Amino acid sequence: MFVFAILLLNITKKRGLKLSIYFDNAATTKPVKTILEKIKPYLECKFYNPSALYSDARRIRNDIENVRSLVAKEINAKPEEIFFTSGATESNNWVIQGFANYHYNNKPTVITTNIEHDSINKAIEGNRVYDNAIYIPVDSEGFIYLDLIEKMLKLQNDKSNKVLVTVCFGNNEIGTIQKIKEISDIVHKYNAVLHTDATQVFGHVKIDVEELKIDYLSASAQKINGLKGIGFLYKRNSDRTNIAPLIYGSQEGGLRGGTENVIGIIALGEAIMNIDYKESKSIVAYRDKLISNLEKLGCKLNGSRYYRLPNNINITLPDNISGEALIYMLDVNGIQISSGSACNSHSTTISKVLSAIGLNNDDVMSTVRITLPRTSEFNIPIAEQIEQFYEEFKKSITILSAG
Ligand code: PMP
Repeated sequence: MFVFAILLLNITKKRGLKLSIYFDNAATTKPVKTILEKIKPYLECKFYNPSALYSDARRIRNDIENVRSLVAKEINAKPEEIFFTSGATESNNWVIQGFANYHYNNKPTVITTNIEHDSINKAIEGNRVYDNAIYIPVDSEGFIYLDLIEKMLKLQNDKSNKVLVTVCFGNNEIGTIQKIKEISDIVHKYNAVLHTDATQVFGHVKIDVEELKIDYLSASAQKINGLKGIGFLYKRNSDRTNIAPLIYGSQEGGLRGGTENVIGIIALGEAIMNIDYKESKSIVAYRDKLISNLEKLGCKLNGSRYYRLPNNINITLPDNISGEALIYMLDVNGIQISSGSACNSHSTTISKVLSAIGLNNDDVMSTVRITLPRTSEFNIPIAEQIEQFYEEFKKSITILSAG
């Protein structure tokens, strides 16, 4: 298999065929192959509404509940603490809005960071209840200042406000993984609740919600080789964590209305069955070798060197080379990477995450994000892909810095 793949790569190169190297896995991932056969029956004959009473429908309900149990087991939660949503965007919005609505009469406050995903930021900005939202800055590696969280929590505690703290577990742009256990200890010392957006971490690094004492957690299937438009919210089963629904209706225990996305849920189950933390660990070695080679070319690493997402490389190019120009040049050669973040790659505004860690506007414009795939995903072995990527990258930045 390995020999065949190398042969294929060489033939592709010799014939001058366009390569296909997808290094934008923080934006989305390729669905695992077995998903297609898993969802086929649900497209052909298992189409029933899972809330119906007849046996064919009850069987589908059973399939959904099996996936719920799988998700719960993966993060050491209980099945009744898992709510299927349309993805992390909805889960994030739900916690932010649902907390405000539930505690409307108790002066709800939110404490967050200045490097959150737009689905957190904009949900906070869009809700008048959070006029008093507190944004904690991060240091040059993207770590939130723990002493500042404590200071702010103490202030809110004195005012007896209801406080939600929301912190992204692993940053989608710079890859920094926060010290969630330490944050959680501080949050609970002041009777607040903790939400974490674990979209880039779930399925890549093992999460135990009990050990980390997380109250709410958001995740999306599309980042773990599942499908787009499906994800979940973990909500700890406790009176302290009650939130109002975002989408009213009768499904998901009356907390999230809408007929279930059966195909998405079944595919999520299959993606979870394919999670392989050993594989994530082996990606780290490839990531670090590539970082070291890129640094030798004059690139500067952004984010934490050690506490970072296994597949994430975020670098500022030398000589103020335009990140966008590099992306287009690599694309012509069949290589796909991202600028600051896929979530805002069409926006003309400067990445607030890169600004928050101290990059100036010129550096931000010279920054690209490379996110590696799983080792087993493609026909071409990962080592070969990285080698080919590196060669094309080197060629491109030589051309661009001369121009
Ligand atoms: N949070 C983070 C950290 C993300 O990276 C993303 C996706 N880019 C989301 C939330 C939103 O995920 P989805 O689009 O699947 O809802």
